[in-house]
Amino acid sequence: MRLVMIGSGYVGLVSGACFADFGHDVVCVDVDDGKIAALNAGKVPIFEPGLDAIVQSNAAAGRLRFTTDLAGVVREADVVFIAVGTPSRRGDGHADLSYVYDAARQIARAAEGFTVIVTKSTVPVGTGDDVEMIIREENPSADIAVVSNPEFLREGAAITDFKRPDRIVIGTEDPRAVGVMQEVYRPLYLNESPLLFCERRTSELIKYAGNAFLAMKITFINEIADLCEKVGADVQKVAKGIGLDKRIGDKFLHAGPGYGGSCFPKDTIALVKTAQDAESPMRLVETTVAINDNRKRAMARRIIAACDGEVRGKTIAILGLTFKPNTDDMRESPALSIIQGLQDRGALIRAFDPEGIDAARSMLDAVEFGTDAYEIARDADALVLVTEWDEFRALDLKRIKRLMRTPLLADLRNVYRSADVERQGFRYVGVGRPEAA
Ligand code: NAD
Repeated sequence: MRLVMIGSGYVGLVSGACFADFGHDVVCVDVDDGKIAALNAGKVPIFEPGLDAIVQSNAAAGRLRFTTDLAGVVREADVVFIAVGTPSRRGDGHADLSYVYDAARQIARAAEGFTVIVTKSTVPVGTGDDVEMIIREENPSADIAVVSNPEFLREGAAITDFKRPDRIVIGTEDPRAVGVMQEVYRPLYLNESPLLFCERRTSELIKYAGNAFLAMKITFINEIADLCEKVGADVQKVAKGIGLDKRIGDKFLHAGPGYGGSCFPKDTIALVKTAQDAESPMRLVETTVAINDNRKRAMARRIIAACDGEVRGKTIAILGLTFKPNTDDMRESPALSIIQGLQDRGALIRAFDPEGIDAARSMLDAVEFGTDAYEIARDADALVLVTEWDEFRALDLKRIKRLMRTPLLADLRNVYRSADVERQGFRYVGVGRPEAA
């Protein structure tokens, strides 16, 4: 089948490359000339494990192409996916749909023959209706079906998630579109991936409900972690104890500095806004958003407290900047709020991240970036583990202790055991464990 991806970011590029890997003929489109030029030169502009290889092999096989010429490729397409960004709208937190609507207008002008237009971007309930209306207004004779097919991949594990998803949600009531979407996903279906067909609005809401539920789960365990610190319990054992219950499950029960990333923060707020507009407020999600916002800043206060209440003129070394390991995505990373909170109190910040530094440079002021954990630990008054990259999991603590001015490890991901770290002569601060400050 001939597929077009509008938007070649984390979702569009991964989806496009994986569809090509399954044998479809795919063209990825973007408005960003630099991104397309890089892709055409064999360079993948984002860091996602395994992506380089499948982009290169499928491009070499001629199944995966890149262009800025949307109209030229949409004309030939059977299926056009919209995978552009839907960030929070400045000021009110609603999803900004301007990129989706722009793409819809451009597609409408170019589509020829029966074309299935699939919204893969995360969009509020009813957006499919708007996209359909825009296309019909722009090109009344267009023969189209507008389908919702939200994406559930996680950055850092995007290729496995795309190729072996827990489920594929497809929202359409158009029988022709059902047939086309079955054909698009047939290669995955052989891997027993369950296709869930439903109404378009239901599909749109599934994505938000899923993300809000996961954000709530993280926030729940973070609050349990706070309680653990007050009452002398261990959140990791509480998480294990409840996670073994199959009704709860063990995923998303790691206490930490609060959720971040390009999805949970904006999607929870957008769901809150949709629910308010529908006069069906989601108070659980509203509270989740508020608790999580507060938590990131609270982590800075925790570090300040561990530095005897004073960080002015002290050097704090930050390990990990991206919102989670195995990505270069810095969007809404807890590290941003933590660093700001420390700088506001006069701390000098040094930081290292295996993949995030390029993106971090444009988002952080007055931070000195290092090339590894040991370099930033030199003469530091505290080492703060913010993102649990593999390479931070077995640090040479003896060496770090010799380098630091004050041996203090604030481990916001509970990677280390306090007793092991303290044995090396450090003060240790974790999250939700009896030893935590
Ligand atoms: P991104 O910012 O990485 O990529 C979006 C791309 O779209 C950019 O390269 C941009 O230049 C391009 N673009 C914008 N307007 C365009 C147009 N008119 N024509 C062509 N290209 C255009 O965003 P992303 O992280 O891939 O997210 C895309 C959507 O998928 C969002 O709605 C997001 O919520 C959703 N989503 C993201 C993830 C994730 O992990 N990143 C997971 C699931 C769903």
